[in-house]
Amino acid sequence: MNQIKDYRQYDKIAIMGGTFNPIHNGHLVAAESVRQQMGIDRVIFIPTGKPPHKNANPMFNEHRYLMTVLATVTNPNFEVSRIEIDRAGLTYTIDTITELKMRCKPECKIYFITGADAIQEILTWKEPEKLLSMCEFVAVTRPGYKNEKLVKTIKSLKDKFKGRITLLEIPALSISSTDIRHRVLAGQTIKYLVPASVEEYIHKFGLYKAEDVYSPEIEAINAKLHSVLTPKRYKHTQGVAQEALQLAGRYGADSDKAYIAGLLHDCAKCLTDEEKLELCDRYSLVLDDILKSQPDLTHSFLGAKIAETEYGITDSEILDAIAYHTTGRPDMSLLEKIVFIADYIEPNRDYFEGLDKVRELAYEDIDKAVITSLENTINYNKKKKRLIHPLGIAALEYLKREEKNEKH
Ligand code: ATP
Ligand code: MG
Repeated sequence: MNQIKDYRQYDKIAIMGGTFNPIHNGHLVAAESVRQQMGIDRVIFIPTGKPPHKNANPMFNEHRYLMTVLATVTNPNFEVSRIEIDRAGLTYTIDTITELKMRCKPECKIYFITGADAIQEILTWKEPEKLLSMCEFVAVTRPGYKNEKLVKTIKSLKDKFKGRITLLEIPALSISSTDIRHRVLAGQTIKYLVPASVEEYIHKFGLYKAEDVYSPEIEAINAKLHSVLTPKRYKHTQGVAQEALQLAGRYGADSDKAYIAGLLHDCAKCLTDEEKLELCDRYSLVLDDILKSQPDLTHSFLGAKIAETEYGITDSEILDAIAYHTTGRPDMSLLEKIVFIADYIEPNRDYFEGLDKVRELAYEDIDKAVITSLENTINYNKKKKRLIHPLGIAALEYLKREEKNEKH
């Protein structure tokens, strides 16, 4: 597979660079549209050597490469190059283009295809003029990306480089590899978003099941949680995040928010009671008598504050899901219910009475699952002679009232 490819027979070639983790129909439509509209002989897909995601795992390079081969095999004008995958160390586009130029005839025109989002980055971060002098860029429109920003950047370039970038309108496909990975993780379908062969490949090798998916943001959260939680609590946290993600997939909630809220729901749990009370004071959390007498119960409200100040979470839905994950409250949002239930049923939990029933209900009817788990928790705490927080009782009454209204 390592033979030096020669492109001397072509007058116009285009490079389609990307992480392709995994390749999806958005990439293919972009490449084929540019090929047709610009009269290009050959599009060479070049999976990057080192993906920006977590998968420094060399095995993933092979997966990304093979999926790109599978996806392009049906198009006689497409091919895939291992040039970056096989190059040691960090890969730079400049080196890749230099190497390709040597394999083309001198008058061959080389284009570089990117999405409007990616070229914006290239132009702002790397030595753009060097790149622009080596090849022309074709920036394709991408849903969710505003072209005005790019037009402004192009305008700010020196005159001789302005003409080196063509902005091309293509059929909009709102697909990203990030979304594909999250869908697989959440157990949602990726049919028709990637070629069938890529879909089969992903399932066959069980890709994107868990740790392969994390963004740097989630990695940072995990690293911090790992240092402040006990191993058992950390494992529980991972289980809750995973379960919340699956529930989000089942009920159509935002899977990123569910995952992050699941990860962070217990971020204050391993503080001592003293530390909890001291931090409640610092964050001006008003404590009722029950919270004062059972400081551990503060961990959810405090967790929301810590998630905000120490983990940089600003989304109020995520923060509320953390704040009410223990007591619940009347009129809970879907995300609050998801984190509440994920905490209750996650797979690493030791078995307790009633768990199976809630596990069953969780994917059938989330309201019923919340009602049953609130009842279980209230009864359990009564038996243990603990005080019951009024928010939990109010949450239960609210849901039961709603259930009754629905029946009438
Ligand atoms: P990720 O979500 O991991 O960033 P991605 O979907 O953006 O993945 P890349 O491998 O980063 O995929 O993209 C390779 C190139 O394809 C980039 O130039 C990107 O802008 C472009 N591209 C990706 N998806 C689309 C799309 N749906 N429409 C147009 N261009 C796209
Ligand atoms: Mg991208």
